[in-house]
Amino acid sequence: MIVIFLGPPGAGKGTQAAHIVSRYGIPQLSTGDMLRAAVAAKTPVGLQAKEIMDAGNLVSDEIVAAIVEERIEADDCAPGFLLDGFPRTVVQAETLDAILTKKGRAVDVVIELRVDEAALVERLRTRIRETLERGEELRKDDNEETFKHRLKVYQEQTAPLIPYYEAQGKLKVVDGMGAIDAVSAAIDEILDPFRR
Ligand code: AMP
Repeated sequence: MIVIFLGPPGAGKGTQAAHIVSRYGIPQLSTGDMLRAAVAAKTPVGLQAKEIMDAGNLVSDEIVAAIVEERIEADDCAPGFLLDGFPRTVVQAETLDAILTKKGRAVDVVIELRVDEAALVERLRTRIRETLERGEELRKDDNEETFKHRLKVYQEQTAPLIPYYEAQGKLKVVDGMGAIDAVSAAIDEILDPFRR
């Protein structure tokens, strides 16, 4: 099964992705993680992406589409995969549809984690505090100003994917404000029928 996770930064996509990976045995493809790995390895893509990511803007559609196209060729993606953080623009969604069509595959379901944006800023503050308490380093884009910019980028560039997938009859909305277990249970209800 091919699943897309939609939702603003901080909606809990990463947390729920880990749950889906363990329950359904499909890999999580996070373009954010892949780009951060490219930045750390100082690859040409990483060098190009670093400043854009630090500012909370979107890396070019061509770069992320190429990364995803290559990744889904891997054997572990044969049973399906979960896309976390991709697509993020309508152009990326159209490119993804074209890539999958070429392979005789298609997106099965799109889960939108719907959250209250004011509560997200509060969640971010908690995440920053907890990260620092664990003695871990913060991501460069983990600060309130950049976060608010990323929310704006989400509204402007990514939210148009909601009607895009609604029109395809693939959109399912989950209330992302509940307890982690309640959100997971709502996701399971949607995904269980797609299980092979
Ligand atoms: P994330 O970890 O998904 O929040 O992504 C972190 C950053 O990576 C984003 O703020 C963007 O700069 C970049 N990024 C990740 N995925 C994409 C994408 N699909 N398109 C463009 N930029 C992306």
